[in-house]
Amino acid sequence: MSADFDDLLAANREFADHFELSGFDGVAHAGVAIVTCMDSRIDPLRMLGLKPGDAKIFRNPGGRVTEAALEALVLGVHLLKVDRILVIPHTRCAMTANTEEQLQDKIGELTGQDVSWHAFHVVEDQVGSLKRDVHKVKSHPLIPENISVGGFIYDVDSGLISQVV
Ligand SMILES: [Zn+2]
Repeated sequence: MSADFDDLLAANREFADHFELSGFDGVAHAGVAIVTCMDSRIDPLRMLGLKPGDAKIFRNPGGRVTEAALEALVLGVHLLKVDRILVIPHTRCAMTANTEEQLQDKIGELTGQDVSWHAFHVVEDQVGSLKRDVHKVKSHPLIPENISVGGFIYDVDSGLISQVV
């Protein structure tokens, strides 16, 4: 095994020394599920005043409602006490700043390979995509009507979240 992860595992041992979530049931204690971007500027729990245990969090590039996100949300709603769903893409997202072709070119240059076969699902119209994503959740046959679903944009420069839909 390499030493590549040593610093992280050392930090984990310290974390485990003060571990407080032992025996935790794994439901979303605040009833919240969040779909957001993988961007490291986003701290999904803290930005909403939540703490570990409060929310189910699903992340991907762009914070899109993909098939996998819908799987997570259906499970969250029916098995994990989720009754509020927030879809939260953000400002200055790399998935909105590039075209599909630009991303393929960048990765192609870095790898020296033809990347045209690989889709990255860039977002051309962030607000329009967000509206469609929220509609996908609301209209899903396995998401009941009493579940609140909102679409928001997180501003990575101010920390503020504004509701779009
Ligand atoms: Zn992003």
